[in-house]
Amino acid sequence: MDPILSHAQTHQHELIGLLRQFVECESPSDDPAAIARFIDLVSETVSSFARVKRAGTHLLCEMDLPGRRKQGQILALGHSDTVWPMGTLREMPLRQADGRLWGPGVLDMKAGIAFFLFAVKALRDLEIPVARKVLLQLNSDEEVGSESSRELTEKNARASEAVLVLEPGTGLTGKLKTARKGVGDYTVTVRGKASHAGVDFPAGASAVLELARQIQHIATFTDLKRGITVNPGVIAGGTRTNVVAAEARAEVDIRILKLKDAPRLEKKFRSLKPYDTRCTIEVAGGLNRPPMERSAGIVKLFHTAQKLARELGIQAEESLTGGGSDGNFTAALGIPTLDGLGAVGEGAHATNESILIDRIADRTALIAKLLATL
Ligand SMILES: [Zn+2]
Repeated sequence: MDPILSHAQTHQHELIGLLRQFVECESPSDDPAAIARFIDLVSETVSSFARVKRAGTHLLCEMDLPGRRKQGQILALGHSDTVWPMGTLREMPLRQADGRLWGPGVLDMKAGIAFFLFAVKALRDLEIPVARKVLLQLNSDEEVGSESSRELTEKNARASEAVLVLEPGTGLTGKLKTARKGVGDYTVTVRGKASHAGVDFPAGASAVLELARQIQHIATFTDLKRGITVNPGVIAGGTRTNVVAAEARAEVDIRILKLKDAPRLEKKFRSLKPYDTRCTIEVAGGLNRPPMERSAGIVKLFHTAQKLARELGIQAEESLTGGGSDGNFTAALGIPTLDGLGAVGEGAHATNESILIDRIADRTALIAKLLATL
């Protein structure tokens, strides 16, 4: 058997112990004290085999790995935050059942962090030389748009030959992610003219009616064939039924497959014209995360992973996802990025969040082999 895989299997129990600690240290994006506790826990865990630096609430760990004359860098990217509020553990305690580990943040993405640390442990214990510098970056704001970490991610990516993203794989076979859609949002605000719906109806210009027509139009921006989706997910407006509404607003999520579709979509939003000319339209927002396009560099990286997976007796597959990650930023810079290297499971952001225990060892080994090969 592959010695790295055998190492990962031998230490699986220990890995689960660490993952248990990670999950039981809750870390919602909007709770700085909780994030700090989790970052402290990770720092403590790696203190004997990494140089740890903090950049605000983001964590950087330069791993101490066998092999000399390091040239170039590999960036391992993850996030410390979860979508789950403090106290979720009371209703959703970490538990092991039916061949899975269940708990808030176990899949997205505390398992990915634990896998990476045990991959490093395997390389150290087995004294397998690693040619590159390996930097682990954990962002504390990934689930809320990565506004404060984006610059740091891009800086470290630019200095790297490749980026390995420790987010979960796709589906119950854990497909790797070689493409992600770009993500953005727009807020469309309509202002009309209020009037009494009974006494002075014609004097009013309904912002609600105008917005409804605008939404019909905005929905036509969706082009499934091109991978463009436009979702007016939230609407609000009006004050009372007997008042012609003065204001109404829609929040619209957009997803694109190709970066070149962003300016086209932007133009369509910015040129929305009111049907009722007594109304005005204000548009705010835009693209937050550029798409991770399946570049030649990404395909090459995936093929390397596929070959290494085969050595582990695993068939690695690739996938496209509509969800964004910090890998979107690194891929958009042209840095070969392979995403979805974390756990295999299901239910990210949902109450059935869980990972498959029998896929822990091979995922950990795959990360280790990538670090030793790239
Ligand atoms: Zn995630």
